[in-house]
Amino acid sequence: MYVSSVLAITVTDKANKLAQENIIIDSHIDVPYRLEEKWVDVTKATEDGDFDYPRAKQGGLNAPFMSIYIPASLDNSANSTKLADKLIDYVEAIVGRAPDKFAIANSTTEVEQQFAKGLISLPLGMENGSPIQGDLANLQHFYERGIRYITLAHSQANHIADSSYDLRRKWKGLSPFGKELVAEMNKVGVLIDISHVSDAAFYQALEISKTPVIASHSSLRAFTPGFERNMDDDMIKALGKNGGVIQINFGSTFVTKRANVWSKKRSADQKKAAEELGKDSDEFKSFSTKYAEENPLPYATLDSVLDHIDHVVKLIGIDHVGIGSDFDGVGDSLPTDLKDVSAYPNLIQGLLNRGYSDAHIIQILSGNFMRVWKANEDYAAKH
Ligand SMILES: [Zn+2]
Repeated sequence: MYVSSVLAITVTDKANKLAQENIIIDSHIDVPYRLEEKWVDVTKATEDGDFDYPRAKQGGLNAPFMSIYIPASLDNSANSTKLADKLIDYVEAIVGRAPDKFAIANSTTEVEQQFAKGLISLPLGMENGSPIQGDLANLQHFYERGIRYITLAHSQANHIADSSYDLRRKWKGLSPFGKELVAEMNKVGVLIDISHVSDAAFYQALEISKTPVIASHSSLRAFTPGFERNMDDDMIKALGKNGGVIQINFGSTFVTKRANVWSKKRSADQKKAAEELGKDSDEFKSFSTKYAEENPLPYATLDSVLDHIDHVVKLIGIDHVGIGSDFDGVGDSLPTDLKDVSAYPNLIQGLLNRGYSDAHIIQILSGNFMRVWKANEDYAAKH
């Protein structure tokens, strides 16, 4: 477990109180896939990882979206659908083990009711639309299992959309099915998540969607030039017009140019090492550890994350920004003072120090996301 030895920030009672007394939605936490890789009981304290019940309680986190993450390698396979069901089973198992601590949340009303009861809500978001497999019946199926947003694609173009990481640009945005799916998601009440998709796919999704969309875990390209996985200022302005919300990703490589450049170089060096040493060689297997020792990642800081929030607020106002940490999804790359789910009071203190009012902080913690979610619920109820 991460123990923050030296906090660069002094957290006041007020910040702790704000964390404990309000709904905190973090729209992207990769617990289910963490369990798939190495099962552990997160209803109790855990040695590794960024999330467990005691730390969530300490941080005031009470509505983390559980990411149903499907690797792009399964994109054109029925196994993507099976894995999605399995990962949802894991979340149900967490609730089954500790119904006095957790409950799945299917709606904004349930988040509010469960918060009032002191339960941690676990709403579900699907990262990668590949489990839909071109069949709208699967959209309905996953809605019924609790999925409330779908990230259209992940690291490669799938049957729905192009990916920011995949330069082939197969569809030049959304596929014909992707366009149909976006309209149907509006009607069913599943939020459209534009994190990970290409710029063209983002603009096409905005054009089609009748409701505000989300970026569940993205940061700003203004701080990471050339990194298309993050959103540029024009996209932020378009998102504002759409009424949507960007939930800032905490990962260091998402928030500072230095860490972003580091990660690009690391990928290139890794590729080179794989070619030179052979992917299955023992030398290559120890590459990562050795590399990290010799070239440590320059961690971002809490302040870098706050800079992203400030930038969105300056561009389009306070109504369109929130938090999508990517805890349990970005490995050992989290900023100082934001290492795990116990750290929300640090973030709140940082906002207080920068002059944010209580009301604005509450908007960032959940108010903005709740407004967008409710707008989607209302639209679906009428269509
Ligand atoms: Zn992701």
